[in-house]
Formats: sequence, structure tokens, C-alpha cells
Amino acid sequence: MKIKSITTHRLRVPTGDKAFYSSQAAFPERNSCLVAIETDSGLIGWGEGGQYGPGQPVATCIDEVLGPRLIGRDPTEPVRIWEELYAFSRDFGRAGPYIDAMSAIDIALWDIAGQAAGLPVWKMLGGRFRDRVTAYATGCYYPPNYQNLPAVLKALEAETAGYVGAGFDLLKIKIGLLPLEQDLERIRVIRGTIGPSIGIMVDANHGYNAGNAVRMGHMMAPFDVRFFEEPVPPEDRDGYRKVRAEVPIPIAGGECEFTRYGFRDFIGGGCVDIVQPDIAACGGLTAFTQILTLANTYGVATVPHVWGSGVAVTAALHAVAVIPAFPHTANPTPLLNQPVIEFDRTHNPLRDDLLEEDFVLEEGKLKIPEEPGLGLDVREEVLSRYRY
Ligand code: CA
Repeated sequence: MKIKSITTHRLRVPTGDKAFYSSQAAFPERNSCLVAIETDSGLIGWGEGGQYGPGQPVATCIDEVLGPRLIGRDPTEPVRIWEELYAFSRDFGRAGPYIDAMSAIDIALWDIAGQAAGLPVWKMLGGRFRDRVTAYATGCYYPPNYQNLPAVLKALEAETAGYVGAGFDLLKIKIGLLPLEQDLERIRVIRGTIGPSIGIMVDANHGYNAGNAVRMGHMMAPFDVRFFEEPVPPEDRDGYRKVRAEVPIPIAGGECEFTRYGFRDFIGGGCVDIVQPDIAACGGLTAFTQILTLANTYGVATVPHVWGSGVAVTAALHAVAVIPAFPHTANPTPLLNQPVIEFDRTHNPLRDDLLEEDFVLEEGKLKIPEEPGLGLDVREEVLSRYRY
């Protein structure tokens, strides 16, 4: 079997009146760059590269540079191809669009390898530890009128009540855009709405310096926060270490890191308690398994970051399936010793409508796919609706 063609699909959905903010920016659109790799035997593997930036740079890396090198190659050797592409692009790649592109290619090759073997990707990666995984809702972003605090608090009550009604046991909210006291007020309202039994995690999207992250960590601690994500900018390793040493909440991060080399310093440097590689950005499933091993070796939990289309969510489900309990106990408990999957709840038809398969939340959990490869089928009409 040989690779016959590689096709990129750049997808874009304006968020329109559902636009929202993190601490960093407004999100007026959702972007995904997908790749379809076709073999001479007719198998098609799907992958996704990048998180939320425009698809053009990633697509160009695939279309113009990396993709042509793969025509005629055996697609069932994703690890070998990863190493060869990394060695080829090392001098000008190593992070950003090149690794996003390699992530997309790698995910698609694992999809093909699994289909060719008749095995789901999680089995190709060594076997799964679970057939369902607890999903956490990612929501409580900031609306465009985020400076109107009473309106924001009122909207938060309605939004969080919806997550409780949907059966989520864990909820991740945004912080970092407003002054600390106002964000604390948001947390207070959310905790009041959802009650004591649902876990809250917070994500600052690296909106603080270390001093203010420590201050906020102490202010939030009484609200039983399960983890504090991206307290400081990813380049500030000393800041991460300071926050982790001084805040009585587990520290999470890693969605901005690339490959085992980037994660080596992040994990080995003692920056986090929970590492969050994004499968579509860190270097695909090949890099993910290496990062998982690194994290496990250093006593760090792994919970992938997931933000993309249905392809990225599906790839992440396979990845989460192969994360061992850590540390092992006889009583598997989400976030204490079991991984969870991030389930973004903002408007994104690329996540909800692109695939024939639906992500169905049952008792707060998502099912791990059972079909060979990734086990997904892309709807051509949805692809063409959002392609540009
Ligand atoms: Ca995040």
C-alpha cells in the first residue's frame, strides 16, 4: 500500500452573534485545517493540524513542503515518517505550523494504519484502559459585553445550570480577562449555581504574571478549584515553577508546547502537575505517546487539550483511551488518578456537524470509538459548506 494523494481542507465558521472572549482575544471565527491522505488501495485517513489560528500556514506546510515527500510512501509507518519529517524540517520547523502540519499527517497515517490492520487506533497504540471517559465542559467564556459585570453574572447562572442539566461532573471556566476581584465574583456565582459536588477548573490562557497568578490562586482556593490552567505565559518557566510552588491548586498547561523536546523542558522543569498536549498541535499521536511517557516518568498527569473539529476530538478520544491510571489505585477517580477529556461547549459546527458520528454525552462520559482506524466518517456537504 502506498500514499497516492494528500489533500488539505481549510475550514472556517464565523461565530457571528455567538462570538466570545478568552483572556487573550475575541473569537470571531472557528478555524480548522484538515488533511485527507488517500492510498492506492482506496483507504482514506483523516487528520487535523493546529488549534484555532487560520488554516493557511498549516495547509501550505503540507501542500508545498511535507506532503509531496510522502507520495509513494508506506502509510502504515507513522513513527518512521514522523522522525523523517522532523529531521528534514528541523532547521526551519520544530514548532508552530510545521509541527501542526506534522500532527495532521501523523493522525491521518495512524487512521490509515488502523484501517489497514482492522484495529482501532487505541489498539494500535498498545491498548485502551477504558471504553468511556469522563468529559469536562469547557465554557463560561466572556461575552462581548464582559465589562458589564451584572449582565455577565446573570448569563453565567443560566449557562452553568445548562451544564449541570446536561450531566457534566466537571466544568472548566475562563479567567484572566477581568480584574482579579471580578473574576473571583464570577467563580463565586458559578460555584453558587452548580453546588459543591461539581468540579470547577479555571483557565487563565496565560493572562497573569506569576505574582498575580499566585494572588489569584490563593483567592480561588476556597472554591475548590481542581486545576489552574495556563496561569502564566508558556515561555515563563520560572513563573510556572513559582506558581506551582506557592498555589495550593494543581497547575496545568502545555497546549502551546510542541514535540517531546518542548515538553521535556516543561515537564522535567517542574512546571506543571497536569500536562495538556494538543494532539493536533504537539506532533500528533506519535508525539503524544512520547509526551505521555515523559509525563508519567516525571509523576505528571496527562489530560490532552482539545479544541478543534470532530477529527481532533476523535483523535483525542483514542489518545485518552491509552493513558494509564496514574497513580494506580483500586478506585478509578476522574482527575485524581484518571484522565478526562476536554469537551468544548462553545458554538462550533466543525465539531458537532462535520462527522457522521455524534459525540453523545452519557452520564457525563464520552464513548471511545470502536471502529478500525479513528472510526470517523466526514460529511462531504459539511466540509464543502465551510471550506475556503
Ligand atoms: Ca486552555
